[in-house]
Amino acid sequence: MTAAILALQGAFAEHETMLERLGVDCFEIRQLKDIERSFDGLIIPGGESTVMRKLLGELGLLEPLRERILSGLPVYGTCAGLILLAKEVEGGELCFGTMDITAKRNAYGRQLGSFYTEAEMKGIGSIPMTFIRAPYISAASEQAEVLAEVDGNIVAARQGNQLVTAFHPELGTDTRVHEYFLDMMSGKR
Ligand code: GLN
Repeated sequence: MTAAILALQGAFAEHETMLERLGVDCFEIRQLKDIERSFDGLIIPGGESTVMRKLLGELGLLEPLRERILSGLPVYGTCAGLILLAKEVEGGELCFGTMDITAKRNAYGRQLGSFYTEAEMKGIGSIPMTFIRAPYISAASEQAEVLAEVDGNIVAARQGNQLVTAFHPELGTDTRVHEYFLDMMSGKR
């Protein structure tokens, strides 16, 4: 099994470290020719969604990746990655728009933008959650299953082959969210 990690900007190296710890092969997507390689899942890291969106467009990666996601390629978006997958974005522009959720960018304001908590994630249990200038999901349609909430706000969801978290499991040592995604890649979940 091989995972591809979008490596245009942001916290992609931390996802690589996490996958290496789990013994999973991965490679970086930096340009169009990289997606000619075969891969079973895609990780879209946290970072700055506006910058990633611009680069995805300029490099010609947006449409081909969008098509693959719509055809069922397992994808996991963290933080900015969540924003890029959302069908509606409050305070930002649409990118892939493949998941029936509304993402509210910088939802916690400047003061409370970054914080740590622990909360329940459906199918996993209580997990550490690190938020950095994070979005939350302000609305999710029936197609999207809510997996976690913090203070009444949705912070993790899944819709078929698509998984999103507003927090950053790749910044900690708990590997369970990545294992959950690997199970989606292998068809176990
Ligand atoms: N605030 C960033 C954005 O809007 C997301 C922050 C992050 O990915 N840690 O893209």
